[in-house]
Order: sequence, then structure tokens, then C-alpha cells
Amino acid sequence: MEQTFIMIKPDGVQRGLIGDIISRFEKKGFYLKGMKFMNVERSFAQKHYADLSAQPFFAKLVEYIISGPVVAMVWEGKDVVLTGRRIIGATRPWEAAPGTIRGDYAVEVSRNVIHGSDSVENGKKEIGLWFPDGPSE
Ligand code: ATP
Ligand code: MG
Repeated sequence: MEQTFIMIKPDGVQRGLIGDIISRFEKKGFYLKGMKFMNVERSFAQKHYADLSAQPFFAKLVEYIISGPVVAMVWEGKDVVLTGRRIIGATRPWEAAPGTIRGDYAVEVSRNVIHGSDSVENGKKEIGLWFPDGPSE
């Protein structure tokens, strides 16, 4: 069954959105296969967002991700990668539809609450990076 990697970013944790976000994925019908509450090191955040290392906002993005604890999760279900991205909403919160997580809770692209894998292939890669011993470890 398809799996995706979802991370509640530090602003989502600090603002008390963990329960609401988990609830949205649960109520949709997806299965939580792994979850950990953790602080990430700079080098790890750089690895997670390595594809964006040439972007002008890369350093700021890394500082954001390491600014507080995050919730790293593996979710499973039919078409969970694409559907997860639809639940999350567009990258830029002003383009995210109301009813999506970013549409409901964010105004800044640099503090947009949550991450979701953008393809099945990247989902596998990210799950391997964040849960090297498997989702339940
Ligand atoms: P994510 O990978 O976090 O799920 P995304 O796939 O919607 O987000 P990406 O293009 O992968 O979008 O960008 C990764 C993250 O980098 C964004 O979620 C956002 O936090 C940050 N970001 C993107 N563009 C900008 C920007 N112009 N200024 C500041 N931060 C940005
Ligand atoms: Mg992305």
C-alpha cells in the first residue's frame, strides 16, 4: 500500500495544531504507521531539503525547520501521496484553498505548518531518511 512522509513543522507544533492535523488524515481514512516527536539537526534538515539547496531561501528554510520540535509521520492508504498534498494545500498559503491545512492556518510561505512528500518516489526516500529502522521504530 502507498505511503507518504508528513512532517508537522515547528510553527504547527508551537501553535497546537498536532491534534487537528492528525485528525484530518485519520478522518479521511488514512492509517498512521509511524510517528515521532523530535528535534532535527541542521545537517539533517539540509539533507531533507537537499533538492532546494540552490534556492535563495534555503538557509532560512533550514533555520525554520530546526527552530523547534517537529512531528515526523508515515501515513498509508490509497493515493495517500497526492491526496495528502491536497489535504495540505498549495505551498504558498495565499494560494491554498480554504479547507486545506495551509489554507486554514497559514499566511506566510516561510511558515506553512506542514510538509508532505510530493511523489511516491520521494515519499520512499523521505521515509528512509526519517525512519531508517522502519516506521514503527
Ligand atoms: P514541503 O516540501 O515543505 O511540503 P512544498 O513541497 O509545498 O513544501 P517546496 O517547493 O518543496 O514546497 O518548498 C519547501 C518549503 O520551502 C516550503 O514548504 C516553504 O516552507 C519553503 N519555501 C518555498 N518557497 C519559499 C520562499 N519563496 N520563501 C521562503 N520559504 C519558501
Ligand atoms: Mg516539497
